[in-house]
Amino acid sequence: MIIMEEGATEDQVAHVVARLEEVGATGHVSKGERVTVIGAIGDREEITSLPLEACPGVDRVVTILKPYKLVSREFHATDTVVRVRGTKIGGGHFGLIAGPCSVETEEQVMAAARAVKAAGGTMMRGGAFKPRSSPYSFQGLGVDGLKLLAAARDETGLPIVTELMDPRDLAALLEYADVVQIGARNMQNFQLLSEVGRIDKPVLLKRGLSATIEEWLMAAEYIVKEGNREVILCERGIRTFETATRNTFDVSAVPVVKLVSHLPIVVDPSHATGRPELVLPLSLAGIAAGADGVLVETHPNPEHALSDGPQSLPTAAFAEYADRVRALVAWMGKRLA
Ligand code: PEP
Ligand code: MN
Repeated sequence: MIIMEEGATEDQVAHVVARLEEVGATGHVSKGERVTVIGAIGDREEITSLPLEACPGVDRVVTILKPYKLVSREFHATDTVVRVRGTKIGGGHFGLIAGPCSVETEEQVMAAARAVKAAGGTMMRGGAFKPRSSPYSFQGLGVDGLKLLAAARDETGLPIVTELMDPRDLAALLEYADVVQIGARNMQNFQLLSEVGRIDKPVLLKRGLSATIEEWLMAAEYIVKEGNREVILCERGIRTFETATRNTFDVSAVPVVKLVSHLPIVVDPSHATGRPELVLPLSLAGIAAGADGVLVETHPNPEHALSDGPQSLPTAAFAEYADRVRALVAWMGKRLA
């Protein structure tokens, strides 16, 4: 990490980046309020062989010891704010993201979108490509589902978060979606991560079912390394010995991530618990721990949902849920973006 002097010029920054490129490394420039920092990614020996401290405008060179670099707070001290259409997540902006697990029908998607909008939600979620444990389960509507999501956005104005599983669907997804979700099962699909690192839309990266926080941040590093800095992390519960909940909600991941990374983090209490009655208490726990948003499943008729019905909040109950969330968000000094 090359820390430039206060007032270093654009030319001086460009010169350092050019020197890094001479040895096959890349320079990721991060402009802070006062100083510019350049993250050097490449062969450590080649980089340290460069006389970077002698370059004009360079204050000092610091080695980041953590295995993840660009997503670390050492590299970028202030919170990243991810902008999605008119809304923001991170740095005091809170995202209330909700919608059904899967897109099923036009009526279902529109009913969910209207409920989310009416309750003050900031984004809409819904899967068109579904990662199902059984090959015999509903796999999602595919591109038709994306079109229904886009129609819901057109009516409500809510940006769309939807999952990508296969790079072959990326172009279609980009045509309709605003945020690309990488699901828990693909958190270590490194080629997929690199692929979404080259797009210019934000990525919501879920924590893997059995991933450590470090592995999760390394997955985020794959995305940011390719140039896409707009990554939102999502804690969605991890596998433990406990069976009372579908997964175990790791609330400590929120403040741990906040300490070591500048990326925004949201919590998904629906997949973490698998139980609708636990969605509110664990949302509140996540918000109290410092989460930048919640991602929640809500369905107009959970009993008939084609996936994750048992954990979905009925849309009829969503406004009350949103009111409770909003109150704590305000108490935390954040605002629904
Ligand atoms: C989902 O969001 O519907 C989903 C499949 O989540 P996860 O990848 O966290 O299991
Ligand atoms: Mn789901």
